[in-house]
Amino acid sequence: MKANMLMIHFGELSTKGDNRKAFIACLLHNVRTSLKSFGLEAKSDRDHIYVYLNDSDPEPVIARLKEVSGIQRISTVAKCEPTLEAMKLAALEVLQEEGGRTFKIDVKRVDKRFPLDSYGITVEVADYVLDHGDFEVDLHNPDTRLKMTLRVDACYLSCHEELGLGGYPLGMIGKVTMLLSGGIDSPVAAFALMRRGIRVECLHFASPPYTSMAVVDKLKDILACLNDYQRDIKLQILPFTKIQEAIYEHVPEPYCITIMRRMMIRLAVAMAKKNKTLAVATGESIGQVASQTLESIGVIEEVTNFPILRPLCVEDKLSIIAKAKKLGTYDISIRPYEDCCTIFKPKKPKTKPHLDDCLYFESKFDYESLIQECLAGVETICFSEGKEVIKE
Ligand code: ATP
Ligand code: MG
Repeated sequence: MKANMLMIHFGELSTKGDNRKAFIACLLHNVRTSLKSFGLEAKSDRDHIYVYLNDSDPEPVIARLKEVSGIQRISTVAKCEPTLEAMKLAALEVLQEEGGRTFKIDVKRVDKRFPLDSYGITVEVADYVLDHGDFEVDLHNPDTRLKMTLRVDACYLSCHEELGLGGYPLGMIGKVTMLLSGGIDSPVAAFALMRRGIRVECLHFASPPYTSMAVVDKLKDILACLNDYQRDIKLQILPFTKIQEAIYEHVPEPYCITIMRRMMIRLAVAMAKKNKTLAVATGESIGQVASQTLESIGVIEEVTNFPILRPLCVEDKLSIIAKAKKLGTYDISIRPYEDCCTIFKPKKPKTKPHLDDCLYFESKFDYESLIQECLAGVETICFSEGKEVIKE
């Protein structure tokens, strides 16, 4: 008996009440899209999505599904008629194919009308297997754990199960504008949002000639990594040089970063509204650097009442690094590069900036028109399936 189907478990989705149908439809759509190149069919019912493997090797299909958010677990399953006789034969066959000597059976009886309860089914099936094959039961450390799920339509048998990404289906929760710097943190933050069902559109502030175009290559490699989880991503590059030069001309050094960040947020919010996203997100983590103290965050955020998400706000750097390594962006992020934040780094940045001072320094130059000029010079790059697709 061949395990020729994958059974996708929804996890957190099952708690979603009225939204459940929409969640499942979104996940089914995402599963179908991500399995397009395999040419496999997927169907859903109330509790699961099923992928019909035909004769395909399950491994690459499972690997692909592990990049789809909203999936809790993926089991490789065989299916038989929902009768005791069929279940006994199927269990024996599956265990023989697995080749282990010891086994444990777990039965879940979803069809409560079935005359035997789960314990009764377990005993009947296990007795049959013991009588007809060379096996022993081991409840603690079996070679093979066989899960049998008895539903109305069929019984599903599974010995292999893998964890999925969890979270929500991508696109279900909306779209945000992600500030992508080329550092370690922001790609990890972008991934955290995607896993939670949020599509990201990225913005990068570039300050040529102070920052090199190598940053863009770096960002493209990061986008290619993130494409595993969101098949198409837009990156918009904003020309930030003039704003940055004006800041360094008019603002005392300790306040430069604070004012620069206030400008970034103004621009990001303007872009978010233009692109109709629901929030701006950053890779900030509280306490990590001068601009990420609670005092700084408050003064920076004062420029807007638009929502700002910081998915990594309480993460330690070491945990962010571990996540970046797992995501595959770490080695790209640590390539040497100049960022607009590092290039003009003040020796003593203000860790507890005052709003009054910010407002005073900002009154010294016409930042509004610089912001408009910056917004007019946006360049767009689209990334799909690991490749750049269009330039607007
Ligand atoms: P990262 O590793 O993502 O660069 P970081 O620890 O270097 O983070 P900062 O440089 O202080 O932290 O930046 C904090 C956040 O501000 C970044 O995570 C990113 O979201 C945003 N940011 C900083 N610089 C830029 C930039 N040039 N373009 C777009 N966003 C930026
Ligand atoms: Mg940075």
